[in-house]
Amino acid sequence: MLHRRLVTFRHAVGSSLSLVRCSSGGQYKDVQLPDYNTSVEVDSHRLSRPQKPPPTLQWEGLKDLEERTKGSLIPETLKEMEEDENFKLTAAKLKEMGQKKMTREERKRRQRALSNLDIPNFETFWKVKRAENVEGVETKIENSLRKKTVEILQANIGLYCNQACNHCFVESSPKRKEMMLQQTAERCLLILQNSPSIHTLDLTGGAPELCDQFRFLVRGAKELGKKIIVRSNLTSHLEPGQEDTAEFMRDHAVNVVASLPCYTAKNVNMQRGKGVFDRSIQALRKFNSLGYAEESSGLKLDLVYNPLGAFLPPPQGQLAEKYREELWNYFGIQFNELFTITNMPIKRFADFLYRRNELESYMELLVRNFNIHTVDNIMCRNLMNVNWNGKIYDCDFNQQLEMEIKKNDSQDPMTVYEISSAKEMEGMHIQTDSHCFGCTAGMGSS
Ligand code: SF4
Ligand code: SF4
Repeated sequence: MLHRRLVTFRHAVGSSLSLVRCSSGGQYKDVQLPDYNTSVEVDSHRLSRPQKPPPTLQWEGLKDLEERTKGSLIPETLKEMEEDENFKLTAAKLKEMGQKKMTREERKRRQRALSNLDIPNFETFWKVKRAENVEGVETKIENSLRKKTVEILQANIGLYCNQACNHCFVESSPKRKEMMLQQTAERCLLILQNSPSIHTLDLTGGAPELCDQFRFLVRGAKELGKKIIVRSNLTSHLEPGQEDTAEFMRDHAVNVVASLPCYTAKNVNMQRGKGVFDRSIQALRKFNSLGYAEESSGLKLDLVYNPLGAFLPPPQGQLAEKYREELWNYFGIQFNELFTITNMPIKRFADFLYRRNELESYMELLVRNFNIHTVDNIMCRNLMNVNWNGKIYDCDFNQQLEMEIKKNDSQDPMTVYEISSAKEMEGMHIQTDSHCFGCTAGMGSS
């Protein structure tokens, strides 16, 4: 019986058996062992990377997370907006001045802060720095910042959001109703189709998943063979009616770039609203369960960190390691990359700085940390940004500051209805202003 088992075993392992000499009862005999095949070239031996230990899942809150995250976040968001002094002040000012006037005033404050510091406008500053001949920086090619080949079409498909974060530079909330219409989405797809240089459709908002044209655009871009990125607030996936949105994204190979400014509930809820942390964790676990961030799936789940206050982000690589450890150990969550971004001194964050009397010191911090090496890869160089009603901008920040790209020889804004391909934008002058220092500080921002 034993003999038969051995024979069966030999068949199972086949030719990988190795012959070794063993001593038994004073006599040597040849036996075959399956794993006795280590090479004698010991100098070439390497230790493999240790396998990831299982998560310790230390977070108590995981127990009833599903129960706690049921239902819409919107009533909580609206309640916070009604109670929060800053939201109340902004709403009153908006009523009194209107959006355009408020944006103009905000711009003046930034410019005043720079002139108090004796700092010229962004473009002049950039030219002076470029002339300093820093190694690795091209000094001759341009006299102004210009668009290169457009590779990304970023569409802000609506300002509606189930959250109302206190750093939001698009001033989104459940009260905003602006949303892209199908005819505008069709024009975006036409531009994608006519622009072989564009490899990626980048959908943003508000909460893009909650906007009417979301699925239409994802399906259309997928059919055209484009890569799709969705900038997700995560909590939108737990809104009633969104139960299958993550599966829809998986089925269309959509990559997720998700905001998570900390791995603790306290900081996330402080910046993004009560209840946001729990829902973000629940949504991240769902994306993981669908294969996101698994090496073999090809589905990317990237996270975005932005600072809580008026300081620059910590080094990206080190922070990514810390996030990896915390999210895995406490919540069993995996992700691909962590991007650190600098808070732009515009809209709600600009108000936040102004009220705390920190606008000038923040502008000084950004200028002091100007990094000439970021300019070549700044996102406005290879991206076109479209707003919910089809106007075209250099980036989402310029969109919020109403700095539209103008049609040739006119003051009229350029829209997706006037151009049929992104080729028409190549070489165009990029409109910059004082907020651009937010993109060039430290390691840059994207
Ligand atoms: S930061 Fe994002 S999630 Fe927060 S309110 Fe703005 S759009 Fe919504
Ligand atoms: S804000 Fe940044 S991305 Fe936008 S135009 Fe200025 S430098 Fe470019």
